[in-house]
Amino acid sequence: MGNLISKKIRGFRDILPDESQKFLHIENLINNVMPLYDIEQVRLPALESANLFQRSIGETSDIVTKEMYSFDDRNGETLCMIPEGTASCLRLALENNLIYDRGPKKKRLYYISPMFRHERPQKGRYRQFTQLGVEFYGDESIHDDIDLLLLTSNLFHKLDLNDINLHLNTIGSTDDREKYSIKLIEYFHKYEKTLSDVQKKTLSKNPMRLLDTKDPLLQEIVSSAPIITDFINKNSYKNFDLILNQLNDLGIPFIHDSRLVRGLDYYNDLVFEWKTSKLGSQDAVCAGGRYNNLSSIIGDTCIPAVGFAMGIDRMVELFQYNSSRINIGFADISDKHSSISLIIKDLRELDCNFNLKIMDRNKSLTKQIKQADKEQCELLLIVGEDEISNNMFTIKHLRNDEKDRKITFSEVKDIILGHST
Ligand code: ATP
Ligand code: MG
Repeated sequence: MGNLISKKIRGFRDILPDESQKFLHIENLINNVMPLYDIEQVRLPALESANLFQRSIGETSDIVTKEMYSFDDRNGETLCMIPEGTASCLRLALENNLIYDRGPKKKRLYYISPMFRHERPQKGRYRQFTQLGVEFYGDESIHDDIDLLLLTSNLFHKLDLNDINLHLNTIGSTDDREKYSIKLIEYFHKYEKTLSDVQKKTLSKNPMRLLDTKDPLLQEIVSSAPIITDFINKNSYKNFDLILNQLNDLGIPFIHDSRLVRGLDYYNDLVFEWKTSKLGSQDAVCAGGRYNNLSSIIGDTCIPAVGFAMGIDRMVELFQYNSSRINIGFADISDKHSSISLIIKDLRELDCNFNLKIMDRNKSLTKQIKQADKEQCELLLIVGEDEISNNMFTIKHLRNDEKDRKITFSEVKDIILGHST
């Protein structure tokens, strides 16, 4: 179509039926797995006060400096399309007393939600994308860290996504990072001439952010920068070691990447990312970590937390999907419209999964058979006057040589179940 009054907006995308099926499959699987970890679903609003993200993610983060879709609404409030879910979900949990009511409470929440970031569109990087976010509140022991990592590994396993590797690191406490930042500033000062103005500003405000850079020139400089490991407090290091040992015991392979830091301010201790080599430069499918201090910023309380965000669009890109539903065609060669409507209604109420495709009843039977073949039906149920008066269908197999035969309504379900994989 050339003459539409409007086309889709740059960076946004239409998700068509084939791809949407993959989203559905992944989301169904997620919804089935979450209760096994005692995680409950919440739905986040698409708009929040811009202040929520400016204060929590950090004023110098990519999201806040250049990626937020924020605007003043008619009441003069500065609002923002949510760019990430962690701050929003914690706001929701605190505002509704889910995790604090005369004392901290444990709670596990998840959401599958569109996120909006104004970044340069490219494959695997969109301005609207879908994240699964999982947040565990109220437990500062490493049990929650381990359980969260187990969950991510389980999800990838269930989707048969094997080419994804877990990278993890500890970034210690705020104090540790302050000491480390001083060293980083010293180091990067040596390369000041190579840095852009924006990078110089980041260096003065939050030097650790430079480690997360996507600029190849800077990445080269980063590769010889001091590593955070030498600045981490004993307790954090001990806990990190325990996590690594448990992962070994559980048979979950990992890579300890001492240069891994996260682009957002609120993390402490454990940080992790799941990466694949199959998506080019958009290689991260899941990222997360511990954020014990975010509740003090958002709600002036102290609730330890650990969570992750998974990019569903990138998972869909990796995911090979073959639907187990069969296509069943329905051919009407009678004149009895009301009987046919009733039969179709009954077929739709059968308690099993299949795609029902109704052929064009104005066509001859031969043409309806051709149509069913074109629409990749495995079976065609044919109903004429004779079938209606005997309460039967004629069943035609379109993918093998089995002969046409007459069956009763109650046989239909068994046949469908027999064909589904
Ligand atoms: P990246 O380094 O790719 O920019 P990020 O650090 O900004 O990722 P997070 O904010 O941690 O990403 O989001 C978690 C996950 O959400 C990412 O690992 C990725 O799978 C997905 N994601 C982030 N931004 C986008 C985007 N613009 N389009 C599609 N998926 C995205
Ligand atoms: Mg990003």
